[in-house]
Amino acid sequence: MSANTQPSLNDRVDKAINDPFLKQSLSNAQERFRTGKDNAADALGNLEEWRTRAEAIRTHTISNLDYYLDQFSTNVEKNGGKVLFANDDAEVVKMILDLCREKEAKSVIKSKSMVSEEVHLNARLEEIGVEPIESDLGEYIIQLAKEMPSHIIVPAIHKNRKQVAELFSEHAGRQLPEDTKELTKYAREVLRDKFMQADIGLTGCNFAIAETGSIVLVSNEGNARLTTTVPKTHIVLMGMERIVPGWKELDVVLSLLPRSATGQKITSYVTAINGPRKLDDRDGPEELIVIIVDNGRSNALGTEYQQILNCIRCGACLNVCPVYRHIGGHAYGSVYPGPIGAVLTPILEGFESWGKMPYLSSLCGACTDACPVKIPLHEYLVELRQDVVNQKHTPALERLIFKGFGVAMSKPWMYKSGLKMAKYALKPFQDKDGYIRKAPSILGNWTKARDLPAPPMESFREWWQKEGRQGGNPNGN
Ligand code: SF4
Repeated sequence: MSANTQPSLNDRVDKAINDPFLKQSLSNAQERFRTGKDNAADALGNLEEWRTRAEAIRTHTISNLDYYLDQFSTNVEKNGGKVLFANDDAEVVKMILDLCREKEAKSVIKSKSMVSEEVHLNARLEEIGVEPIESDLGEYIIQLAKEMPSHIIVPAIHKNRKQVAELFSEHAGRQLPEDTKELTKYAREVLRDKFMQADIGLTGCNFAIAETGSIVLVSNEGNARLTTTVPKTHIVLMGMERIVPGWKELDVVLSLLPRSATGQKITSYVTAINGPRKLDDRDGPEELIVIIVDNGRSNALGTEYQQILNCIRCGACLNVCPVYRHIGGHAYGSVYPGPIGAVLTPILEGFESWGKMPYLSSLCGACTDACPVKIPLHEYLVELRQDVVNQKHTPALERLIFKGFGVAMSKPWMYKSGLKMAKYALKPFQDKDGYIRKAPSILGNWTKARDLPAPPMESFREWWQKEGRQGGNPNGN
């Protein structure tokens, strides 16, 4: 769903902050992930050293992306795979639809792929009569609910057991119990058949190893392994920044990814794929096609925002963000929510539709501290806000107000008269405790969630003129 085809940002945020369940479940999840991350990080030793090494690896790789992409694709082809490059979402979709037609595919089984969410692949597959099936449990839940993921690693974080039971019961045509084991069993039974029947398996790519042309996938459910071994064709959709030079470097980033994401030392499955099935292999696809996707990523190359491509999609920045905790993922409106989404989405898709995203942050800097590859997220958010203003993507009224504010702040007499006017203008809205609980006009948005202290009848400057300047005691004694 694009920014223009969904409710406005204000409406999305209003809906989210008025959902007490959402707030509670996000707060619990953040707490759980943070504690898990702290415990798992302790076992690593000096976390700062690991972060510095990971940052250096990612920065080096992204600075030499053309070299490593070339090395990676040459090696994929040596291994018997095929590599395609897609510039944008339309090209990605066309390549996949063409492959489906060529293979006369009826269904595509998918393990988690954020790029496929980015290009809204499922809807496009359905349009040509191909059934897309999400096999990651969280993705399967939101596919049935016809929703977007609300977290980059826990897509259905916003749903509780009761809601999942209702959803699955509706799908099953019978009442299923609100029991996690039973619900998982149901999903497993449905999906097992789908795996066996699927013509194409489609996965994302956590890391691509340039020196051997290998694809590394991490998962906790084993679904990636079935997706990559049962269907005859395996398509890998990878963002062009997923590359690491070699296995030595993978060791560092892979040590940080699950620890930062869910607090696990390692995920249940780490799968490395080295081309399609060989003659003496017992399973695996007959064909491996890797689609390397740009889709706006090169907008960041060579700019002050290049470091955003260092992201390893761990979700740690979401797990500490106070704004994400209050509004959840859907309020952002983008496939990528939270601090990473607030930076990445406008870079990938422009300010026209996503100019408000960088404002979804308190700028507390918790995201930057949590990021295992040290992306300066909160600094980027400030710089992006500056770009939004400089490129005139803010509303005309807001620009006028700030222009007036700038003029008033630079002329003391204007500033003083403005303060005087404000104190009389706001007086009717002030209660007996000196607070404005419901401010008029555009200030009303501010007081929706907090109280505004009313401007005092005597300003500090007035007091200083009267008392302080003459050596008077502020306490009056
Ligand atoms: S920006 Fe950093 S913390 Fe956020 S998802 Fe990417 S790597 Fe993880």
